[in-house]
Amino acid sequence: MKPVGPIPAGYEAIEGELAIGGRRVSDLVAEAGRTPLFVYSRAHLDARVAELRAALPARVGLNYAVKANPHLAVIGHMEPLVDGFDIASSGELGLCLTLGIDPARISFAGPGKRDDELEAAIAVGVTLNCESEGEAARALAIGQRVGKAPRMAIRVNPSFEMKGSGMKMGGGAKQFGVDAERVPALARAVIAQGAEWRGLHIFTGSQTLSADAIIEAQANVLELAANLADAIGHGLPKLNMGGGLGIPYFPGDTPVDLPRVGAALAERVAHLPPALADTELCMELGRYLVGEAGVYLTRVIDRKTSHGVTYLVTDGGLHHQLAASGNFGTVVRRNYPSAIATHYGAEPTEEVSIVGCLCTPLDRLADNVAMPHADVGDLVAVFCAGAYGASASPSAFLGHGPAAEILV
Ligand SMILES: *Cc1c(COP(=O)(O)O)cnc(C)c1O
Repeated sequence: MKPVGPIPAGYEAIEGELAIGGRRVSDLVAEAGRTPLFVYSRAHLDARVAELRAALPARVGLNYAVKANPHLAVIGHMEPLVDGFDIASSGELGLCLTLGIDPARISFAGPGKRDDELEAAIAVGVTLNCESEGEAARALAIGQRVGKAPRMAIRVNPSFEMKGSGMKMGGGAKQFGVDAERVPALARAVIAQGAEWRGLHIFTGSQTLSADAIIEAQANVLELAANLADAIGHGLPKLNMGGGLGIPYFPGDTPVDLPRVGAALAERVAHLPPALADTELCMELGRYLVGEAGVYLTRVIDRKTSHGVTYLVTDGGLHHQLAASGNFGTVVRRNYPSAIATHYGAEPTEEVSIVGCLCTPLDRLADNVAMPHADVGDLVAVFCAGAYGASASPSAFLGHGPAAEILV
């Protein structure tokens, strides 16, 4: 028997069924017309933003990293809740513009921005978080050609990284950003060449649960930014401090102590070095904002045994939930929080393995878990599906196609 991860707060049962946004999952599936289905909860999104606003100093703005969940209705729901949007492609830019989001609120990071992407961003006034000298030169040349000063920040590759980060994105050789020691020269050059100077972007890691690690990284980021601002000889209009707050996925994971992170940041912000006195600050969060707000629902289409193991075979799988299958950046496969959604809260009566419908042994949703008895037709819920689910899974693999998605 293996445990499942902790189910996020705020999911209740109604008449023995999982309810999301006050509605039973069978009703949600009926409304969507099919399974598999991602359900995203407005109430969870609202609650998470409210917790952040209460914990963080008012001086620190909140950006949504769109790549965590680019479902149009989710971005649209976030629009009035957050201050800015971080995008990583012209595709994500298109989604934001479709929703009428003011380009002045958007910044564009990501190595490998194509010329057409730079041009699209410059044309509407999106801030470019430049990832290299080469990219900066291309952006300036495109700005010249289209007669528009690019709004430019520089993404710094810091020499430190966030401890315990689930994904290393700073420290040592990286494809992201410009090594810190080369940032002052590049900043002076882009300012001299007529860019609208927007400041720095320092992203140190992702999926961290340790408040200490986050507090330390934020202190390092503020110190580095102040030193760079001094070396550049220009103030920073804005500093994107990165984010990195994680959510519990696995047995034993505990949530970030957000009040402690917020209190430490408030203390720092109250005593900023002079170089940052007038700098607008923001954090950029993806998974922390949307991850726990999503549930992946898939239907049991077969129940079978093999060598004493009971398998629940579902119509979903790793083509929608690659991370839950253990094939998206994890070393040891562990079980995401999951449940039989149509017997939610019932006592477990058997041990089963819940698998997907793909013809590969990699396609496992929950391994050797204790669950109430489920039959063909029952619904399985995989939680923590709001970030890096639908858009970060190979939905074309094996031809079953994408899942449906709804916001409730
Ligand atoms: C992916 C990414 C994020 C979001 O990371 P989360 O772990 O989802 O919060 C934020 N900023 C940058 C630059 C990223 O690449």
